[in-house]
Amino acid sequence: MKHIIIGNGIIALTTAFKLLNMLGPADTITIIGPIDRTGSATLAAAAMLNSFAEIDAHSLKSDTDLYHFELSHQATRMWPDFEMGLIEAANYHLPLGCAKYAVHSGGCFDQGTYVINNAAADQVDDQNFDAIVKTLKKFNKKFDFVDPKDIPNYYPAQRNRAMRAILIHNEGWLNPRLVVEMLDTILRHNSQVRFINAKVDKFIMAVDGIDAVMLENKKIISGDVFLLANGAMAGNTLKQSELDLNIQPIFHGVGVSLELKAPDFPHENCIRTPNRGGACGIYAVPFFQRPDQINNHILIGASNFLSPEPFFHARAGSVAHLLESAINEINENLFDAQMVRVNVGWRPTTQDTYPLLGRTSIGNLVIATGTKRNGFHLSPLISEMMAALMMGEDVDKRLGVFAPERKIIRELSHDDAIKIGIESLISQHYQHGYKPSNIRMEKLVQEGFRRDLEELHYKVGALDWGIPPELINMYKRGHAR
Ligand SMILES: Cc1cc2nc3c(=O)[nH]c(=O)nc-3n(C[C@H](O)[C@H](O)[C@H](O)COP(=O)(O)OP(=O)(O)OC[C@H]3O[C@@H](n4cnc5c(N)ncnc54)[C@H](O)[C@@H]3O)c2cc1C
Repeated sequence: MKHIIIGNGIIALTTAFKLLNMLGPADTITIIGPIDRTGSATLAAAAMLNSFAEIDAHSLKSDTDLYHFELSHQATRMWPDFEMGLIEAANYHLPLGCAKYAVHSGGCFDQGTYVINNAAADQVDDQNFDAIVKTLKKFNKKFDFVDPKDIPNYYPAQRNRAMRAILIHNEGWLNPRLVVEMLDTILRHNSQVRFINAKVDKFIMAVDGIDAVMLENKKIISGDVFLLANGAMAGNTLKQSELDLNIQPIFHGVGVSLELKAPDFPHENCIRTPNRGGACGIYAVPFFQRPDQINNHILIGASNFLSPEPFFHARAGSVAHLLESAINEINENLFDAQMVRVNVGWRPTTQDTYPLLGRTSIGNLVIATGTKRNGFHLSPLISEMMAALMMGEDVDKRLGVFAPERKIIRELSHDDAIKIGIESLISQHYQHGYKPSNIRMEKLVQEGFRRDLEELHYKVGALDWGIPPELINMYKRGHAR
């Protein structure tokens, strides 16, 4: 059996890794993707393994969202063993940066996430912080309230200091570049795996399924079963292939993160705010280098805006905002930090914001994309399920809710969407320095947003459903219908 995987991000590579143990002696895996990985969300990720820290006040209100959270929760439990499995598989070829396995003493994977609640933005932060605490209690998960002053390497500006903070013990992070290096190494040393440094242009159909893919250089690569896992570009590949599939739009959630070097302020834990309107708030995560070195690289993230087209460079405003927020809200000493790298990644974001995972009506085509903000975290679980599907095995039937050809999930009510939309827009403005002169002005602004959102809902026929806040601009511009 010839397995063809399109894409070389975390979803593609971990699926190939899972497939390794399932192959017969004559089976092969071909991974197709450009070696520079332009726009890879994986390389821009923090990569935080957050479940509870990602909760907001409107989470977990539908069965779909609860199931999505269950997957995330399950992935948290899988990571320690998954990471151990990678290290064992890499064996003598283990990249230098991962030369030891040390979940508990600091290594290429560590745990302990501080969520801070400050007044730098607006009350959306407080609501979301409360929702995180409530959900941790409901699920009986270990966490502690901590005095913000005791958080290591946390020195915010006075006006932006947090009044409340919690430590979630088992939510961790990795250096995504090291994980990709490790996966590349494992796969390249396996004689049943072949990498092709190229981009797929389109699928080629035969009567009974996909027969092959055509690369942009016109070369044809034939196979038996295909996984489309090229992140935000999956929509493009499907469009160019003109297959008879009805798959919702996939947008580029353009996100910027910054790698800084702060020699005098080594960072030990993930410190983050709750999610804020429009994005995930501000966070600072240790960016692990090597086990025998003091870790003084920090990843700062992240911005987000949706676009139907890729953006190749960071917006100056995004970089400025991230730096300012990190200095003011996390550690004022980052003023002296050195900028090592500006990452731009495209979060694969679907119109209904849920992932596309599973087989399609073309029997030998499986799709795995749309993971938006938590694909790195979900990868041990997604890869297990995608590998099983590629081998013709069954997986949890409930995954059907994320079937690639599903109808757009519209569980947000019209009224909730207007309420959350206004909150989200106001929060976005507060994050960027909005200061109304008085309460009347604030009310006028809110009324303006309400009018705009009501008009937009009416225009697109969203009378008994609501537009998710992050999709507002895509509906406004006619990219989503
Ligand atoms: C700034 C930022 C921060 C993030 N932080 C986190 C986090 O903390 N935790 C978390 O879990 N997630 C995070 N995410 C989300 C996470 O990165 C994604 O959900 C995940 O990486 C998606 O993986 P992927 O393999 O589907 O896509 P990608 O990583 O985007 O990989 C797709 C690959 O396919 C290749 N490709 C494109 N077109 C073609 C083609 N035609 N043919 C072949 N190959 C092609 C690309 O070059 C790319 O390498 C973050 C994302 C961003 C942008």
